Amino acid sequence: MKNDGVLHPYSNARALEKEKRLIITEGDGIYVIDSEGRRYIEGVSSLWYANLGFSEKRLADAATRQLNRLPCYHAFSNRITDVVLELTERLLGMAPVPMSSVFYASSGSEANDTALKIVEYYYNAIGKPDKKLIIGRKMGYHGVTHAAASMTGVPRNHMGFDLPSSRVLHVSQPDFYKFGKIGETEEEYSGRLAEELENAIIQAGPERIGAFIAEPLMGVGGVVPPPAGYFQKVQKILDEHEILFIVDEVICGFGRLGEMFGTTAYDLKPDMITIAKGFSCGYVPISALMMNSKVYEAVADGTDKNGVFGHGFTYSAHPVAAAVALEALNIYEELDITKRVQELGDYFQTKLEDLRKSPIVGDIRGRGLIAGIQVVKNSETKEFFEPSQGAGKIFEINTERHGLITRALGDVLALAPPLIINKDEIDDFICRLSLALVDTE
Ligand code: PLP
Repeated sequence: MKNDGVLHPYSNARALEKEKRLIITEGDGIYVIDSEGRRYIEGVSSLWYANLGFSEKRLADAATRQLNRLPCYHAFSNRITDVVLELTERLLGMAPVPMSSVFYASSGSEANDTALKIVEYYYNAIGKPDKKLIIGRKMGYHGVTHAAASMTGVPRNHMGFDLPSSRVLHVSQPDFYKFGKIGETEEEYSGRLAEELENAIIQAGPERIGAFIAEPLMGVGGVVPPPAGYFQKVQKILDEHEILFIVDEVICGFGRLGEMFGTTAYDLKPDMITIAKGFSCGYVPISALMMNSKVYEAVADGTDKNGVFGHGFTYSAHPVAAAVALEALNIYEELDITKRVQELGDYFQTKLEDLRKSPIVGDIRGRGLIAGIQVVKNSETKEFFEPSQGAGKIFEINTERHGLITRALGDVLALAPPLIINKDEIDDFICRLSLALVDTE
């Protein structure tokens, strides 16, 4: 097939010229249907966002109602819409730690990009203009705009670009299975990582480090839950050196881990939180950055000094997106989503454990309705595949042949079904996955 006119995100454009497209034409609950009529379980909720599946009429109706009432308006200067005011009150009311202000955008990248700009604005406003370096983590994922991609620690997001910026440092990711030493406990491993973080801060000079950004559970970096004690140790170091903590809840937020936010799941104390994806279940794009009063008050003083907060997207606080997000929050509440994900998540994670019998499954980890399967050449000797062998990709292709869409992240297969999945569907999911695993062995 020739180029279809689209430069596909995350593609090898040359290789794609010879590949068949998977054209998705319809959605139905946890399923998507392709142009040839094949049904697939969407095992990663599209890109980790379709928490309520692909045919939630109430979300479509909320969008239609708003489109008919007021299809677009903005929030620049003193303008605002009623629906955005309602959403803001709701969001601040459910924030996992006290938050005092929300900035809206359309994507996770824009929210994280804004977080970096707020770090600058904050330190300029409080008279510490040198304290602006950001610490991210290798394999951490925060998006693809220039600033967000710099904070991202995934090499393929830097390749071919002039990234990352020297304003961002990256410390090791907390992947105990891959990097824990023989005989080391998780807690000791976390101690080692905390020491590395502290050394990085001291080396750069604490007076130059403005913020640390992290996902509660790493998604794109291989579905990695934090090892025991990790965030407690990190938080202590951040407090000691007065470093702001930005928690990227773009995947974890809105029930994925069996808590409304990853912040609650791991007892984090962020100064800023970014959200997207499950906020509107992806039906329309919306993201947000919440900030606590310490950050907001300094930023507000800065706007007074500068005369303006010179930041805002045309589609910041879009009323149609806000209406859909509000309805999603209503549905989450009615479904008692955290309880539901805790119960179904336990069932899902227990069922997945059966796959450990496979000689190529090294690790299975996750929480709630997100999991990662680390494939290895030999699970007993813990020998890893060479990246060039593309084992994760082969596994992904095999699941697709069995009617289950998954996502390979290197040699980890990511699973994150819609949160509306039921027990029978989980059984079907695991059955398809097991068949694909046998094909991959
Ligand atoms: N942060 C995290 C944790 C993500 O997983 C993603 C996307 O996968 C982003 C940020 C970027 O979001 P977007 O693709 O909407 O810009």
